[in-house]
Order: sequence, then structure tokens, then C-alpha cells
Amino acid sequence: MVLNAVKFPAMILFKTITSLQKELEKLRSPNLKIGFVPTMGALHAGHLSLIKESKKNFDVTVCSIFINPTQFNDKKDFEKYPVTIENDIYLLETNKTDILFLPSVDEIYKDGLKQLQHFNLGYLENILEGKYRPGHFQGVCNVIYRLLNFIQPNTIFLGRKDYQQYLVLKTMMRQFFPGVNILAVDIQREESGLAMSSRNMRLSEDARIKGACIYQSLQFTQQNISAVSFDKLKAQATETLLQNGFDKIDYIEICDAETLLSLKSIEKNKKLIVLVAAFIEGVRLIDNVLIN
Ligand code: AMP
Repeated sequence: MVLNAVKFPAMILFKTITSLQKELEKLRSPNLKIGFVPTMGALHAGHLSLIKESKKNFDVTVCSIFINPTQFNDKKDFEKYPVTIENDIYLLETNKTDILFLPSVDEIYKDGLKQLQHFNLGYLENILEGKYRPGHFQGVCNVIYRLLNFIQPNTIFLGRKDYQQYLVLKTMMRQFFPGVNILAVDIQREESGLAMSSRNMRLSEDARIKGACIYQSLQFTQQNISAVSFDKLKAQATETLLQNGFDKIDYIEICDAETLLSLKSIEKNKKLIVLVAAFIEGVRLIDNVLIN
């Protein structure tokens, strides 16, 4: 139950760190719980599920919208990233978000984009997403590190859709923000099963329909995990995606859900995760399912 819920007449939007911090300092008290939802905008029901989770138990919900240039290894992907700020503000307001932080690139990277901090993320930085998007997780950590320092929330809300990002941030935060909790929220899907993503806006109607076969392949893998070899399951999933209009597959992997290390077969007491990254109409989609 939210005990100290601050009654904001309407969402307040801040563009500068100074103004945001001034407001947060006014509100801060030992009992006041701040929930933080970082996003890159082009909001959909997946993002809103994080806001709703925060609203359930936190007195103040802060959402940030910032398309972080340092996490894009592909310049074209950055340039094409959808921007729907008016609709985002409308969605956040109707979902009773208290504070929106909407900074510029200069505000976040005061010393420029080249002066980045290096985080020790171990092997997690170089496998799966890290292998195909070099530098991506350093960029993610740089922005979240800065945002956490500015906002100092009690809890950060992250989606399991970006599962590796969640583990990477857990690693970074264990070192730098041990007092901040991480709450992971389940993947929200379209009715077809396609995982909601801002990048789906770039897909044609046809690709949105075909894109759902990622989830079907994940479910097939999940259902047959103990009956069929991992190699066969991955080959089957690859074939399904390619037959359904996907142009390229970065990876389909079955991993230990705690370490993200690839597995060859079921291991006792290990929670598994199946992860996919694949392109359709040139748009890179990622998805995963957890298997207990
Ligand atoms: P993004 O704007 O893509 O950086 O995502 C912001 C946050 O929303 C991240 O923690 C994502 O994992 C989460 N998110 C994105 N898509 C979904 C989804 N379909 N379901 C749940 N969370 C999501």
C-alpha cells in the first residue's frame, strides 16, 4: 500500500537535472519511496506496465525519456528510433505518472559523448546482445548510472524483455548502487504474442503478423525442452523464423537464466531462458521466455 503518496495535481515535466533535483529534494523524506522507470520513449503498454507496478507501491513515480546515443552501436538505428513525445506525455499523464524527466543529450553528457565511464561487466558485456552490439552495455550503464545518481530512487523498474540488460544493470548496481532495489517486470505482448517494442512501429502490418512467430518458436522450444535436443530445437526455431519472413538471425540461445551462459542440455536445478534476436524488414527484434 502506498502510505505517503504525494498528490500531484498533474504530472510535472523537468528538462534539467537541477530543476528535477530541486523538486525531489523538496519531497524526500525517510518514509517516502521513489520508483524510477527509465525509458527511451515511443511508449507502449510494456512501458506502462512498469509505471503501473511503480504506482502500486511507491509514493512518487519518476519516468525518464531519453534516447541514449551512447548505447546505439548502429548510427542508423539511432537516427530511425521512433519519437512520439506528445503521445508519450499523454500516456504518462493518463497513467498518473508523477514526474517526467526529459533531458537533452547535453544535459546528460555534460562532458560530451566521448567522456564515458568504463564499467566492469565481465563476460556479460560480450555475449549475446553484447557480441552483436559492441559497446551497447557500456552505453546503457553510463546513462543509468547518471540517472540513478540524479534521481536516487528506492527502486528501479526494468522489463524482462531486455533480460541481459537487466542482468548487466544488476552487476553495475551491485557495485555502485547497492541500496537501490531492482524490480523486473514480465514481458507485455500483443494479442498475437509479438513482444511489445517501440521498434514494432517501424514494421508493416504484414511483418507485425509474421513477427509473432518469434514467440511461437520460443513457446515450441519451451514445450519440447525436455524431449528434444537443444541443437535441434535451435535449428527448428531458426528454420521457422527464416520461413516466416525474417531476414537474419543474430542468435537463438538456450542459457542458464542466472548467468546467461549457453547450455547444451537440461541441467538439474537450473532455471533456463531461451533468447532470440532476429531481423524482419531490417528491424531488429528481441524476445525471450523463461523456463523453470
Ligand atoms: P526502452 O524504452 O526500450 O529502453 O524500454 C524501457 C523499459 O521498458 C526497459 O526496462 C524495457 O525492458 C521495458 N520494456 C520494453 N518493452 C517491454 C515489454 N514488451 N514488456 C515489458 N517491459 C518492456
